[in-house]
Amino acid sequence: MNVELSGRGAGIVTHPPLRAALEAAGAATADLGVISEYRVGLDGQGAEIARFAFPQLVTSWDCLQARLRARVPDACYHLGHALQAFTTDGRRVQARFANGQVAEGDLLVGADGFRSTVRQSLFPQVQPDYAGYVVWRGLVSEADLPAPIRDQLFDHFAFHLPDGDGEVIGYPIAGPGNDLRPGHRRYNFVWYRVAGRDSLRDMLTDETGITHDLSIPPPLIRRDVLDALQADARARLPANLSAMLARAHALFFTPIYDLASPAMTRQNIALLGDAAFLARPHIGAGVTKACEDAVALARCLPGGTDLAGGLRAYDKARHAANHKAWTRSRYMGEYLTPQYQDAAGQAKWAAQHNLHTIMRDTAVMNFA
Ligand SMILES: Cc1cc2nc3c(=O)[nH]c(=O)nc-3n(C[C@H](O)[C@H](O)[C@H](O)COP(=O)(O)OP(=O)(O)OC[C@H]3O[C@@H](n4cnc5c(N)ncnc54)[C@H](O)[C@@H]3O)c2cc1C
Repeated sequence: MNVELSGRGAGIVTHPPLRAALEAAGAATADLGVISEYRVGLDGQGAEIARFAFPQLVTSWDCLQARLRARVPDACYHLGHALQAFTTDGRRVQARFANGQVAEGDLLVGADGFRSTVRQSLFPQVQPDYAGYVVWRGLVSEADLPAPIRDQLFDHFAFHLPDGDGEVIGYPIAGPGNDLRPGHRRYNFVWYRVAGRDSLRDMLTDETGITHDLSIPPPLIRRDVLDALQADARARLPANLSAMLARAHALFFTPIYDLASPAMTRQNIALLGDAAFLARPHIGAGVTKACEDAVALARCLPGGTDLAGGLRAYDKARHAANHKAWTRSRYMGEYLTPQYQDAAGQAKWAAQHNLHTIMRDTAVMNFA
């Protein structure tokens, strides 16, 4: 573990396997978040043009982190240990950290996110591949929303497809400290926007002229980039959504990358979560699939007597499942960067990617 994860404000849509994993870890599952009751689609004026019941629990980073962290004894949780490298002879693995510490064991689990040092050592050919768009996120305090907007949208998972400018979604989450009281919650505002490589490079450049690799820490996003987002929102989004964005705090963007590992394991090393497969966020299941990996790994290695066999079982249980999730997420992302050659291709694409299909398939694990 490198740095404490607390304070990440983003909403996390949940699925039944996530709750099962929390239960398996002995973490509390009561009051996990806010239930969005309906999915609603909005037109160019921000008026509702589609609606269906789809109760779905949305939790938050803070809440998940606090509950799982509470299950880990302090003595087993080592902050400030950035893995630099490891060596293995297939039986024993030695990990070296930037702070000079060295740890040795039978198994190394690389759960170190999409920039994974562990994966880069196992599969250096696997690199994040930019998908051609970014996602902006921000949180709006329920109390800051004008009453008409709150009454229309707050309880719902909302969708809007701005003409030629990406995809907007939003959903309610708990307030700070997992506050679930009406009036104290937050709305998670999400806007996917196409950005060519040159634009991305500019967006990743901070005030001092440093261009960051792959992503930029939120506090370093330039003022003019944030101002341009708000100006575009006023020009291109319905008034209710641009008013919401204007009230969002801690706005930040994440470039979307694809990444798929050829295996979940090699020798006595295992990969887990985004370190192994980075799925695009449209499936809203990155945390769930990371938890599924963790549960599967624990189940495949119950006694530690047959490590090689356990790791083979883990790879079998999770590689194909992750690949399906990843493939599905790319399919859904095609809405942002359409690829068709002719009118027939365009018609087919439009039939597969429209407000109805996006409302139906977003954050749904229908790829099992
Ligand atoms: C816009 C967006 C929306 C999303 N929405 C959802 C959603 O609704 N539901 C959902 O389930 N998922 C969602 N996701 C996906 C989800 O955030 C990720 O899939 C999930 O965080 C992956 O967890 P992870 O533990 O594998 O990696 P990470 O969360 O990236 O954690 C990696 C950890 O490894 C540590 N680390 C990194 N390098 C080192 C090192 N060298 N040494 C030591 N430690 C290291 C980091 O500090 C960090 O603690 C979304 C993602 C995005 C971008």
